[in-house]
Amino acid sequence: MDLSKLSNTPHRRLNPLTGDWVLVSPQRTQRPWQGKVERALTDAQPIYDPTCYLCPGNTRAGGVKNADYTSTFAFNNDYPALIASTPDVCVEESSLVVARSEPGVSRVVCFSPRHNLTIPRMKSDEIRNVIDVWASEYTTLGAQPWINHVEIFENRGAMMGASNPHPHCQIWANKNMPNVPAREQEKQEAYRAEHGSCLLCDYVMLEARLGERIVCENDSFLVLVPFWAVWPFEAMLLSKRHVTAMDELSHGDRTGLADILRQITTRYDNLFEVPFPYTMGFHQRPTDGQAHPEWHFHAHYLPPLLRSATVQKFMVGYELLATPQRDITPESAAERLRSLPAEHYLGAVE
Ligand SMILES: [Zn+2]
Ligand SMILES: [Zn+2]
Ligand SMILES: [Zn+2]
Repeated sequence: MDLSKLSNTPHRRLNPLTGDWVLVSPQRTQRPWQGKVERALTDAQPIYDPTCYLCPGNTRAGGVKNADYTSTFAFNNDYPALIASTPDVCVEESSLVVARSEPGVSRVVCFSPRHNLTIPRMKSDEIRNVIDVWASEYTTLGAQPWINHVEIFENRGAMMGASNPHPHCQIWANKNMPNVPAREQEKQEAYRAEHGSCLLCDYVMLEARLGERIVCENDSFLVLVPFWAVWPFEAMLLSKRHVTAMDELSHGDRTGLADILRQITTRYDNLFEVPFPYTMGFHQRPTDGQAHPEWHFHAHYLPPLLRSATVQKFMVGYELLATPQRDITPESAAERLRSLPAEHYLGAVE
């Protein structure tokens, strides 16, 4: 594939998973920057914080006391966005004003009892514990007949609105398919009907052949900057084997997932030598009881930083009103992430 004829040319790239386009303006990377400067983030968190509502044994804002947990710990969110006992209500004023009640469950998962232990600095078996909890939450929540979608996601860093620095993620499980997975399902179904193969299996093979957008990989997974990436250092984590959800991962795959999660988050932290903020989350088979052979297990990393620990990309103006736009190409972002050291800049945790 020859991208050189686009290297100085504004162009659009198609996201085949959603049908959306992104505008790429590589000629703009030289323009002067006079925008907002963020203060650098620091890594100075203690092992235990007596005021943290997620640390073991502490009392949460809602009054519940955390267990003295010693490994990964999951509990119901005290201030849930979704509630299981939501009554079935529908409002429809012609076809223009439409609302429906949405029952669901909101969970919180603390990765480890240590207040300052982030994924890139955890040991393989500690990340493996997190993955085992994710898989069991996906299975248990998804087994409820009225829960048709389970979203596991992490907001890392104050820049992404994380309300507590204790490393944790959230799980929102609900009745109806949310917007983005619904669009991805439609596109994956249509691709399978047209080509007789899986959209993301074909994409993994294509990117493995080209190599230029791959950041890191192991036997089970690879991480790449997708051709259609919107955020400067956006990445996608994909299983090499066709797996529709976490419940189909073998023991070896789960160990491979722990390894690749550490690899990508280490590279992210090394990029600007700060705990790299991002939203990440998994996309997997809906839990509506159907087989969904079109679904290919993957995760998206959506980080806001652009040029340093203090300069972030804003989704504003044309991007909110028309089409998202980026300056540095996905190829050069992949190249930068790939060339970073594989060891964390802060060294190993004792
Ligand atoms: Zn804590
Ligand atoms: Zn596949
Ligand atoms: Zn997705």
